Amino acid sequence: LTILGIESSCDDTAAAVVRGTADDATVLSSIVFGQTALHADFGGVVPEIAARAHAEKVDHCVADALSNAGLALLDCDAIAVTAGPGLIGGVLSGVMCAKGLAAATGLPLIGVNHLAGHALTPRLTDAVPFPYLMLLVSGGHCQFLIAHDRDRFERIGGTIDDAPGEAFDKTARLLALPQPGGPSVEAAAKTGDPKRFKLPRPLLDRDDCDMSFSGLKTALLRARDGVIGPEQTLNRTDQADLAAGFQAAVTDVLTAKTARALDLYLALNPVTPTLAVAGGVAANMAIRTALTDLCTRRNTAFLAPPLALCTDNAAMIAYAGLTRFAAGEQDDLTLGARPRWPLDDTAPAMLGSGK
Ligand code: ATP
Ligand code: FE
Repeated sequence: LTILGIESSCDDTAAAVVRGTADDATVLSSIVFGQTALHADFGGVVPEIAARAHAEKVDHCVADALSNAGLALLDCDAIAVTAGPGLIGGVLSGVMCAKGLAAATGLPLIGVNHLAGHALTPRLTDAVPFPYLMLLVSGGHCQFLIAHDRDRFERIGGTIDDAPGEAFDKTARLLALPQPGGPSVEAAAKTGDPKRFKLPRPLLDRDDCDMSFSGLKTALLRARDGVIGPEQTLNRTDQADLAAGFQAAVTDVLTAKTARALDLYLALNPVTPTLAVAGGVAANMAIRTALTDLCTRRNTAFLAPPLALCTDNAAMIAYAGLTRFAAGEQDDLTLGARPRWPLDDTAPAMLGSGK
């Protein structure tokens, strides 16, 4: 099967072509137009700006993805598109484009849950058997999922407030480091002392897989205000120590809760256990190293797909669509966009269904 995928749920417009079967698929092309520069002055993604940019770029992305794959649209067997969750204007831009292409060509249309795209990525890049444990940790999400099957995901815990990526971005702002915060905080933390500032590790006393990161941000603000100079400038050492302290706290929380999630998961799959990570925060080397060590101690394979497939992209959407299509599923032109769409609810949106 050859599937065109389209993604526009947040601040990346993306299109990709994936070919193969649900057990063995290859990415033929993957185009991502990032919008970081457009939102840089606003300190966050502005939904209206994002929607407009998606609408402008999505056709070019599709054309580039097809030409990089050396294919025409009619060489594809179906068109998969993110139908949620995400910013509604952006999701609609992609869904409208996909519907237009499906209507014009008669190709089948497949609505995909963006989170299912992330959660199935390990099976696009590697031959990972079900069930596997997934830690999805990005700018907008932080959750543990047990992937039982291509359409059956069990959420066993996650953040009760901010996502870690968001916390990294806010921390960068507090420490006058550039956006996106993840890479700049990680770089600053390299020379810092993670023990100098005592930052909290919330919810570690609770015997579940839930996490909290908003208190950490407040504690960091207080620690910063304790050392900041009269001109509101931080010296390099304070900046590095605060960054290191923050990163160590996030790493400790993620690692401790992953250990708990592994307990639950290993009871289900003691023979071929795998922990897979996805999302931009999974790029962090301190977090990666801590999780790798944990998995080694628990005889669990650790899988981190290449970063380009861990952050938002359309190859994962094409692949998730491929698994639906291979199972005989598709949608029709009533496909709508769902701003909220939990992963354990697999029905795609219908226009006017109010979901
Ligand atoms: P979502 O996919 O949940 O809708 P998103 O598109 O913002 O959200 P991603 O593109 O997966 O998420 O990841 C971006 C986030 O990852 C940003 O918050 C960024 O700061 C964070 N990030 C990137 N690199 C690193 C790093 N090295 N360390 C920590 N965080 C990082
Ligand atoms: Fe995403």
